[in-house]
Amino acid sequence: MSHTEQESPTEALKRHFAQRVSNQVRTLLNRWRIVCEHPLTKEVLEDLLLSTKKLESQAEKFKADKQLQQSQVIEDLLKQALTALPEIDEILKTSLNDALIGLGETSVRKSDNTPAERVLPDSNPVFIAASSELTLKLTEQLGHFGIENQVVENTVQFQALVEQYTPCAFIIDIDFGGESQGLELVNQYNENHQVDVPKIFVSQKDSAPLEQRLLAARAGSVHFFVKPAVPQLIRAVEGYYEKHIEDPYKVLILDDSRSQALYCEKALSVAGMTTHVIIDPMEVLNAIESFQPEIIVMDMYMPGCTGTEIASVIRQQPEYIRIPILFLSGEEDKDKQLDAMSQGGDDFLTKPVDPGHLATTVQNRGQRARVLNALIVRDSLTGLYNHTHILDRLSQACRTAAEEKNALCFAMVDIDFFKKVNDNYGHPVGDKVISALSLFLKQRLRKSDSIGRYGGEEFAVILPNTTGEDALHFMNDIREVFSQLEHSAGDTEFKVSFSCGICSFNGNNGDFIIEHADEALYAAKKQGRNNVQLYVEDD
Ligand code: GH3
Ligand code: MG
Ligand code: MG
Repeated sequence: MSHTEQESPTEALKRHFAQRVSNQVRTLLNRWRIVCEHPLTKEVLEDLLLSTKKLESQAEKFKADKQLQQSQVIEDLLKQALTALPEIDEILKTSLNDALIGLGETSVRKSDNTPAERVLPDSNPVFIAASSELTLKLTEQLGHFGIENQVVENTVQFQALVEQYTPCAFIIDIDFGGESQGLELVNQYNENHQVDVPKIFVSQKDSAPLEQRLLAARAGSVHFFVKPAVPQLIRAVEGYYEKHIEDPYKVLILDDSRSQALYCEKALSVAGMTTHVIIDPMEVLNAIESFQPEIIVMDMYMPGCTGTEIASVIRQQPEYIRIPILFLSGEEDKDKQLDAMSQGGDDFLTKPVDPGHLATTVQNRGQRARVLNALIVRDSLTGLYNHTHILDRLSQACRTAAEEKNALCFAMVDIDFFKKVNDNYGHPVGDKVISALSLFLKQRLRKSDSIGRYGGEEFAVILPNTTGEDALHFMNDIREVFSQLEHSAGDTEFKVSFSCGICSFNGNNGDFIIEHADEALYAAKKQGRNNVQLYVEDD
């Protein structure tokens, strides 16, 4: 009933090469992301050109035709930009941007098993300026977490790099380039740059005198580690590396006047929100169900019913009680406004509303709703969805998959021999392993995937638009890399693995999927753990 992920050596090799091309795509996109908001100088363009050429030669070697084609387009544009200096017009810059986005999209195809979200870097890299030994270990482990890094080889390179890029954080040896030179470099950086980049200082000596720690604190250090273990540094950096840029707020707009609705829609979409408009109040429940808004903006007076009535209907459903409702109306009668609020409305804006004011109000409401929501649906140790919520999401995902006839997979992940981790190193170390796995899953999975903490050391992952075969592939990749991560307990380092069971959706409900993912997980454990199994139905 279950079968194991088996990959032929040629397939493995192909994947390995595809990965190299993807990595180079990633590097190039990362560079672009950092520089594209600044004026393009000769140095920057030449640097981009170098990266592009490297990609071209790799794409050629590994027969990645789409990437090859796209990098040639980019090379061409970069050369045009170099000739156009010092003035590069917006049209050229836009073409360049489009070409790079196009490049990102080439790496989304199934052929290299790398969905878009896994290729596009979302944050600036961490700069590492430290001994080669520490640097080597760090880059390897940061790579596992999907955290981009830029290695700094010497002080001259440091100065050149910080002129071009802003990192998300520095990890810097206090003696980088000579006694206290690292500290000196950071002080110079602070003098010449307005942005406040978090600095993590390390010292490879046996101890650091208080004077030195004080100087580091004055230079803006957020951490000071003496002879640090790599996992410690990763945890320190993790918070500064934002993988998930916040999703736009989803706003449902209900107004019987189409022009009013469109006015409102425009004001909100200009401010970066995702909107859905309905004109007929009778559609409101369907729209909430399908669009899943975080905020509702509603006209007060509509034919057949009033906004207040609609609000009470919405509030009758417990799952919609927390969605903020904002009323819009020409109504100036304060009593009626108060009445609207007492029926479950959260805010009242009088038409004509200023678009900026509307957007800010909606944003504030949305932010508060998200904070409250997070308290209710998230697990406190890991920040992942809690047990109840991941089950809700699974039912929802099953419904969507059935409606849209899309693939869907559910994976259960359970850490192997976790009891031993607790027994050998203590409960707090066990907790850190749980956090590490949760961070790891967050970094590795796509944004559209949902991850929950199912129980103590068990996790659940919902993978929309993913077939069983693909899920097996992804989860197996993740399993492989996770098993290489180093965890630390005092001076000891150790490794941990997990097992995973997957069940794909075939028209059944959530209970069926959970039961069979669990069955596959059990099979994975029986196979000897550190293993992924896919549930396959008997014919
Ligand atoms: P297997 O490979 O079969 O999964 O073995 P296991 O030891 O991982 O599984 P078992 O279910 O026997 O033990 C799970 C342990 O996880 C028992 C429990 O004390 C521990 N645990 C559960 N939740 C937490 C937690 O939040 N923090 C820590 N540190 N430990 C936890
Ligand atoms: Mg367990
Ligand atoms: Mg376990």
